[in-house]
Amino acid sequence: MTDSFSNLSLAPTLARAVAEMGYESMTPIQAQAIPVVLTGQDVMGAAQTGTGKTAAFSLPLLQRLLKHENPSTSPARHPVRALVLLPTRELADQVAQQIKMYAKYTQLRSTVVFGGIDMKPQTLELKKGVEVLVATPGRLLDHIEAKNAVLNQVEYVVLDEADRMLDIGFLPDLQRILSYLPKQRTTLLFSATFSPEIKRLAGSYLQNPVTIEVARPNETASTVEQRFYAAQDDDKRRVIRKVLDDRGIKQAFIFVNSKLGCARLARSLEREGLKTTALHGDKSQDERLKALEAFKQGEVDLLVCTDVAARGLDIKDVPAVFNFDVPYNAEDYVHRIGRTGRAGASGLAVTLVSPSDARLVGDIEKLIKKKLEVETLQLDTAPAGPAPEKWGARSEDRPRARASESRRRDDSDPRDALESPRERRGGFRPAPINRDPFFSKPYEAPPADVSPSWDAVPKAPRSSISANIKPKRKVAALFKSEE
Ligand code: AMP
Repeated sequence: MTDSFSNLSLAPTLARAVAEMGYESMTPIQAQAIPVVLTGQDVMGAAQTGTGKTAAFSLPLLQRLLKHENPSTSPARHPVRALVLLPTRELADQVAQQIKMYAKYTQLRSTVVFGGIDMKPQTLELKKGVEVLVATPGRLLDHIEAKNAVLNQVEYVVLDEADRMLDIGFLPDLQRILSYLPKQRTTLLFSATFSPEIKRLAGSYLQNPVTIEVARPNETASTVEQRFYAAQDDDKRRVIRKVLDDRGIKQAFIFVNSKLGCARLARSLEREGLKTTALHGDKSQDERLKALEAFKQGEVDLLVCTDVAARGLDIKDVPAVFNFDVPYNAEDYVHRIGRTGRAGASGLAVTLVSPSDARLVGDIEKLIKKKLEVETLQLDTAPAGPAPEKWGARSEDRPRARASESRRRDDSDPRDALESPRERRGGFRPAPINRDPFFSKPYEAPPADVSPSWDAVPKAPRSSISANIKPKRKVAALFKSEE
């Protein structure tokens, strides 16, 4: 936090909305980007979700659009002036909700369109006229083709989470969309990393952009101890148990790649007697908040979550992070392990690697520019996996979120497939107006007398075992923690 919003001379309608949000001062990306965007220059910003970047681009953009605000009911008086593109429904919806809140005292209209749901209600909104359109690329193209969205009066375009859009294979869609926009416009590009592809995209579509970088997202904190353990899927829970026991860790986040896997793993751990909760896209915002509060209170020791669910929730500083699945995108690895080892505290990040993950581990190595060693953790019985030397092999057979198809519609967006927008189908669920101070506080360990659930788990076999455990496997071995 560096600066006060009052220095910006925002219009009273915007300043009032900001004050209502409870923001006291600008975040670093806001302090740097808002003045630049107010001048109408192009921006290339390195910032992740959670840094306040939505306000960083939307407040100045709304301020510049105020000259167009009018009370007319005629759609012709409300053409699309600003277009915000995002890779997933979840993110598009979040950003659209924020923009709605910032614009609530203005006469500027905004809406969001994304795939996977009926086009009709979106069409009705578009036909009424909106100044700010938030969209995922595939669905936007559908609306353009259906002549529901006309973009020839766009003055601002925001490519948010641009690295993810390229990862998903949206480049051809982006190129088409950008071809419909006037050449004379302001383009803002935000990305967690400035990869060569992102630089190429910026080179083609941005004019003399001002580069703003608030964090070095490719860097992992030196306070995080990073471990990679070879583990077959069936052995992964045992590895987690062993690390928790050996290190005396009280609480941890466990990341998985799909919401199905998330729910399944949480259930298995729960059945094994570990106090666990799941956070994924099928949980309502309310359920997510309750789960986090339970974690914070020490009522829950393990929080199993997907990337998108965890990204929306601003919780940091847990003692350990496990990657039950190696993330499909190396950037997600950096995001995930950034949850631990903050503010000088030491943290542990354990990634469980199966043989087919070698290529993904290679991607992480490249991104963080560090040679990673996949170790074999001695469990009580030999792991079911192949000999350790196999772990170094580069595997090409794993399906990846990265898609090379020329055109990928939102409906088949792999990220969307991981996170359904179900909780929002009934319409907007406004985000809490004031940020819950819980999210701004660093992690605090629960009271010392609260011991983690794994301490209390009997080391003997339990009657209700996970359906995922192979019947032949000795269940008792799963609970042994002593060497
Ligand atoms: P974003 O990175 O845009 O997704 O924002 C992450 C969260 O930070 C959202 O819940 C915002 O409401 C909140 N936020 C944005 N700007 C500020 C600020 N200046 N002060 C406090 N919270 C903020």
